[in-house]
Amino acid sequence: MRVLVTGGAGFIGSHVVDRLLHTGHSVAVLDNLSTGSLRNLAPALAHINFVEGNILDESLVEQMVRDSDAVFHLAAAVGVGHIVQNPLNALITNVRGAENVIGTATALDKRLLVASTSEIYGKTTKMPMSEDDDRVLGSTTIARWGYSTAKAIDEHLALAHAQTGHRVSVVRYFNSFGPRLDPRGYGSVVANLMRQALANEPLTVHGDGQQTRCFTYVADTVDCTIRAGLDDRAVGRVFNVGNDHETTILDLAKQIIDVTGSHSPISYLSYEARYGKGFEDTLRRVPDVARARDELGFVAAVGLREGLQRTLAWWRDTYT
Ligand code: UDP
Repeated sequence: MRVLVTGGAGFIGSHVVDRLLHTGHSVAVLDNLSTGSLRNLAPALAHINFVEGNILDESLVEQMVRDSDAVFHLAAAVGVGHIVQNPLNALITNVRGAENVIGTATALDKRLLVASTSEIYGKTTKMPMSEDDDRVLGSTTIARWGYSTAKAIDEHLALAHAQTGHRVSVVRYFNSFGPRLDPRGYGSVVANLMRQALANEPLTVHGDGQQTRCFTYVADTVDCTIRAGLDDRAVGRVFNVGNDHETTILDLAKQIIDVTGSHSPISYLSYEARYGKGFEDTLRRVPDVARARDELGFVAAVGLREGLQRTLAWWRDTYT
């Protein structure tokens, strides 16, 4: 198939591109290189049609969608830090840009996968989080929830198109990590803590470090993304994509110190000092993985420690 990957130069997108190429598909990438980079595409670049451009550009999107059989829409403004610093840009990209891609792909009757996020669930306390659960969000005066809201609009759009017969599916990512994480720490605590550990700087744990996440190795994220994007059984469905092993951020920091052999101490940083006044965190986040397992045959295979070791090996190869 000819697959267009928006955001294909990003952390997850570039791994999706590699896997699609590896399994014999032809690939085009549309990416504005805002958080993605050509370095991520180094192994693929000679074999794909790469276009540097914006998902807000209607004629460019139309031309690229027209030339594809399937569209994987991964382009987005990502990372809590970014969203809180520049909420307007994030909203425009994640609402108007996504609407452009979703509208064009469905109008041209293409198979479409929309990448969404576990941030959708907000601060619900029901664990594990199942795809049909309620979303629990804070006030609109807290910028963080704008990201969840924008992605929810994308999901609603995708599902409304599915209801009218279009071949659309949605995936919600749970804290992916692995090689090609941005070392500046955009969008991932793993990147930030690993950079600090390797520089023997204090690892900044926000709050008391007892908040949890389920870290999902990127090869697993990609596996489920491709199943959801190409398998007919996924049409009209939403899937959590994640590992359901829960880890506190403090424990993550300790494991990163251990794996890297770092001499760094752990330092605690208040949410307010990092993200400004009135920030709200999600205190626990655990996916219900039953639907992806039962309907797509997907089970995450790589544990946190193994994933951290692989990430570290890549990091050392790339930056030393
Ligand atoms: N976090 C942290 N230290 C950092 C970066 C993040 O303690 O240097 C915390 C953050 O406050 C959150 C968790 O790690 O509780 C996961 O943050 P991330 O930005 O990776 O993703 P999120 O799951 O919040 O979208």
